[in-house]
Amino acid sequence: MLLLLLSLVELARCQATTPLSLAPQQADLGSFDLANSLPPPAYSVHATTLAQLPPECAAVTPSTTLPSDIGNFSASCSAEMTALSVTLEDCDTPYIICRCADAEMAMDALVDRLARVPVGLRRYAGTVIALAATVPGPSAVTMSGASGGASATFCFGDCTMNVWIHEMTHALDMADPGSAGWQSSAIGWSNALAADTCVPDTYSQTNAIEDFAQVSVLLIYKLLNGGLPPGFYEDCMKHQLAYLSAMTPYNDSSLLFGNDCSIGPLATHSSPPDVLDPTRQFNSSGEGAAPDPPSKALGSGACRPATSTTMVLFLQLGGNCLLVSNINKLHLDIRSTLDK
Ligand SMILES: [Zn+2]
Repeated sequence: MLLLLLSLVELARCQATTPLSLAPQQADLGSFDLANSLPPPAYSVHATTLAQLPPECAAVTPSTTLPSDIGNFSASCSAEMTALSVTLEDCDTPYIICRCADAEMAMDALVDRLARVPVGLRRYAGTVIALAATVPGPSAVTMSGASGGASATFCFGDCTMNVWIHEMTHALDMADPGSAGWQSSAIGWSNALAADTCVPDTYSQTNAIEDFAQVSVLLIYKLLNGGLPPGFYEDCMKHQLAYLSAMTPYNDSSLLFGNDCSIGPLATHSSPPDVLDPTRQFNSSGEGAAPDPPSKALGSGACRPATSTTMVLFLQLGGNCLLVSNINKLHLDIRSTLDK
């Protein structure tokens, strides 16, 4: 189940929280996995441990849970939490990932899936916080910040690429509150829903916001594979697909799947990379056809062994190297943070 957390203020502002009566095409989106269409970027990832947990991560450490008046959702980490600052070569603004030690997803898997999110969507990401599953299967929540945009995405359990794309779409949706509210509250989206007869799946029926994110998952698949996943048909939801297809960043694959996060305003991550990597390309030849990208991490493509003297650890990550610095120091810092 995917959940979207809305503050009461947002609930008042957004007019899109009523259930949709359009017929679902499928029970869920579990028949395909965007991981097969979204290869990891063919370059190194630079990750540095943070000495202090960011406030949004510290807020879910013991004895603290999120307010109970905003849904049946609470998040807490009763184990150690680690925080990583991750810089990808398509953006100079680092991403922050916090992981509770009992989370199902390992830190390298979190970095890997974040990196696979197309930069045109990833640039809207808030802090990613990985926690243990609270219900069978993965679930996730994206919260909006006080001044607009996504403040954090919580992942419970092993969040698939479909879930990541869904949540990053919420982040995009929240990015430009403006006078019309979120993108999914725009009249154009309402008109598209009124003109169509179906939605992707039963979860899409939750409301126009969730449908917006589910249609985005299908559209990303279509852009990468040339058509919808098997079992999904365009006709009964063509207006929804057309609306998203005309939106930035979906309307320009060279930006959505590009190598540069500095492609417009209103995003959390928009600082241009020092060096553009011209090889940054997503495979579009069909699901399952994506070859392993050539590794050019750190110049050699091979991971160096971990050394205790430099306190630097290189982890192999999907054919690339993940550089983790000061990892030994991290353990002590986080422990002291939690022992306060
Ligand atoms: Zn959602």
